[in-house]
Amino acid sequence: MRFSGLKILKEGLTGNRGWTPHWRDPDPKAEYDIIVIGGGGHGLSTAYYLARDHGLTNIAVLEKGYIGGGNVGRNTTIVRANYFLPGNSEFYSHSLKLWEGLEEDLNYNVMHSQRGLINLFHSDGQRDAFARRGNAMINQGDDAILLDRDGVRAHLPYLDFENARFPIYGGLYHPRGGTARHDAVAWGYARAADRRGVDLIQNCEVTGIDIENGKVTGVRTTRGAIRARKVGIVVAGRSGQVAAMAGMRLPIESHVLQAFVTEGLKPVIDHVVSFGMGHFYISQSDKGGLVFGGDLDFYASYAARGNLPMVEHVMEAGMTLMPMIGKAKVLRSWGGIMDMTPDGSPIIDKTDVAGLYLNCGWCYGGFKAVPGSGNCFAHLMATDRCHGAATGFRLDRFRTGRGLMDEEGTGSQHNLH
Ligand SMILES: Cc1cc2nc3c(=O)[nH]c(=O)nc-3n(C[C@H](O)[C@H](O)[C@H](O)COP(=O)(O)OP(=O)(O)OC[C@H]3O[C@@H](n4cnc5c(N)ncnc54)[C@H](O)[C@@H]3O)c2cc1C
Repeated sequence: MRFSGLKILKEGLTGNRGWTPHWRDPDPKAEYDIIVIGGGGHGLSTAYYLARDHGLTNIAVLEKGYIGGGNVGRNTTIVRANYFLPGNSEFYSHSLKLWEGLEEDLNYNVMHSQRGLINLFHSDGQRDAFARRGNAMINQGDDAILLDRDGVRAHLPYLDFENARFPIYGGLYHPRGGTARHDAVAWGYARAADRRGVDLIQNCEVTGIDIENGKVTGVRTTRGAIRARKVGIVVAGRSGQVAAMAGMRLPIESHVLQAFVTEGLKPVIDHVVSFGMGHFYISQSDKGGLVFGGDLDFYASYAARGNLPMVEHVMEAGMTLMPMIGKAKVLRSWGGIMDMTPDGSPIIDKTDVAGLYLNCGWCYGGFKAVPGSGNCFAHLMATDRCHGAATGFRLDRFRTGRGLMDEEGTGSQHNLH
């Protein structure tokens, strides 16, 4: 079933009886060429690009819950390519280009909205840092405009510019940044992978990884053992646990990150805005809810909900930046499990076990990476060679110390990235 304007018209006129499920619900086969563990954004996009770009279709994605039930359906949906350091900047630039053609490619409306992202700065030092970042973005071929205070005011008149403690000096504007509907991204990739023959197996938890003579031979699951020549671990916040099944200890800590949404309001915030002096960022969903978040809860955890001190911190930062937000009623909050690396940058690499590959460490920025990550990981799994846009994401940088990409400049403490 292809989506098109004509199809919607036809279904509308004939009682909407012709829609079919987005994907099949197959039982696992005894053997696949490739198994992808994890049916989040990265696992699904990996399977899709393996099929689309490499003609490999004897693939299963094994998901312990349901498709889209992990972080891919829990994030605040920001998509951007405003990274500073070599290694990161070419990768996120590659990913943003894939976003820009994604809806046509998947034949699915992921509601990608390039409404522009503005990072505010509040001191001369911050202005210098953002000017450097903007230059790096332009050198990479992406867009960046350094706005002064009046420039920001023209876009975001509702902010508190005169705040005595954190006056707004200006902002770095990234017009191609924006948001996308997170669930739709998972559903779109799932549907497109299924259409190319990939088996999406839900309620199938991987409980063990079989290795013989240093080579992966398959996995054990709650639905039986499945053999495979190649296995990719793409389980975000559970990366440390699943890698341990193959005897690996990863440089990953899992931390909880919270987000919040208000009741639906009339359109008021038509960009993505981030506060430069406290960890707070906000956008407005198409349904009208203000979607916002802040920093990690500052301890390692596998809980998918957070605690009150960070709620208080986020609300305070929001009130500082835009006092009007105090009138909005918060509808709900939730948490997701972040796979934090010591330098805040991800890992896409082979492991010491032949046929076993690793994709993790996306911290709290992996939604925007979904197309690029799947594309580069599929390339690695299919060809055993690193994709040109992901050469910096090597696992051994944490062993040797060479090639670390500490975008935040906060050192090796996981929860500070
Ligand atoms: C509150 C919040 C806000 C965020 N905001 C943004 C943002 O604005 N922009 C951005 O770019 N990023 C954001 N992120 C980060 C982003 O959501 C994640 O980095 C990204 O979704 C992680 O990759 P994924 O989609 O593959 O993860 P997931 O969706 O978590 O997928 C991993 C899957 O693996 C499955 N799994 C785990 N263990 C097993 C097992 N043993 N067997 C089988 N399956 C298993 C899980 O059930 C899960 O479905 C945010 C995250 C949170 C929580």
